[in-house]
Amino acid sequence: MAVQAARLVERHKEVYGSTDGIRVFRAPGRVNLIGEHTDYNSGLVLPIALEYACFVVSAPNDAGRLRIRSENNQESRAWPIADVPRQKPSRDWSDYVLGVAVEIHRMGHPLQPVDLLIQSDVPLGAGLSSSAALEVSAALALLRDHSIPPLELARIARRAENNFAGMPCGVMDQYVSVFGQENAAILIDCMTLEHRPVRLPDGIEIAAVNSMVKHELGQSAYRDRVRECGDAVEKIQRRYPNVRSLREIASRELDALEPTIPDAVFRRARHVTSENERVEAFVAACERGDIEEMGKLLVSSHRSLQHDYEVSCPELDFLVDAALAIPGVLGARMTGGGFGGCIVSLMERGRYDEFAESISRAYRQQYGREPEVYRCKPSKGAGEVGKGS
Ligand code: ADP
Ligand code: MG
Repeated sequence: MAVQAARLVERHKEVYGSTDGIRVFRAPGRVNLIGEHTDYNSGLVLPIALEYACFVVSAPNDAGRLRIRSENNQESRAWPIADVPRQKPSRDWSDYVLGVAVEIHRMGHPLQPVDLLIQSDVPLGAGLSSSAALEVSAALALLRDHSIPPLELARIARRAENNFAGMPCGVMDQYVSVFGQENAAILIDCMTLEHRPVRLPDGIEIAAVNSMVKHELGQSAYRDRVRECGDAVEKIQRRYPNVRSLREIASRELDALEPTIPDAVFRRARHVTSENERVEAFVAACERGDIEEMGKLLVSSHRSLQHDYEVSCPELDFLVDAALAIPGVLGARMTGGGFGGCIVSLMERGRYDEFAESISRAYRQQYGREPEVYRCKPSKGAGEVGKGS
């Protein structure tokens, strides 16, 4: 068991006093390489699961309660287990755990009284999906011995975020947290819910840079984009009645409909259709080891998110442009929902340290704050990491 997990087991004993049946579960955060805002449009995405992860220590209690505590914010909550299915969201961090418990119950799986101790090293609210890492690890910690198919695990976690945390996200974050692999990005088809690993070329490194801002607009803009994509589909259906999502139309076909679609809605749709095509091109470039092309596609993705989808912000645009000016950098783009959070940058192997230093200096000079830089190495998906004794 990793040192971190062993320490957390000791902490669980201190907090809850129990020693029997202690188990430790882990679920990773993610960085999305390419395929942004495509998952809720039944499109293609290519994230990697990170080494940064949420750990949850779980032990049964005989108090008949669900008790949870996060070491990240030092807060605790508890409910009688029988009352859990009737709970309403409280609009804070506990929703991500309680929402999972509610969905587990709704799916007909058993809910047992357990004590959970949570600690995550995924930065919270940075766009690396600490929320999915928490949901998936909490689901495993609540289910314990009751195993369910991995796809159902991802779906339960996503529904918790949609229904309880109130975020109309697609399935990417929870999916890659479950299905992540070492040494590979995961190409997910959000229409069929199938995936395949895509091995990354040897000569590259990946970094995420945290802008340390999260603009208020983010949540409402996300909802607006989901709605605008639905509007685009309605307009497209006048010409192509069988199209049910932006996944089912090519950029070329969409372009021909431009005069019939309001400008903003058209540009949202153009981002999604072109982004699906960029994911395919990126995977092809990856497989033939064309790292220059991979970098260029990241930059095109960013420009599309910046100008067509309009979910970037000055800090992210600055970081992308600053990254592109650093020697050895192949490409960069915003990653995650936008309006703050992180950029992801692809560089030649061996350039990471220099990159981290240069981008930090540039951001500090421009905004007077220190960005966090994270090395992004593909890691394996969620699972049990050990038993305490
Ligand atoms: P992201 O998923 O990109 O990190 P979100 O806004 O979707 O950003 O989710 C962040 C929220 O998830 C935090 O504000 C907090 O409420 C919750 N969260 C995630 N991990 C933890 C944790 N370990 N402890 C407590 N809350 C957490
Ligand atoms: Mg999230």
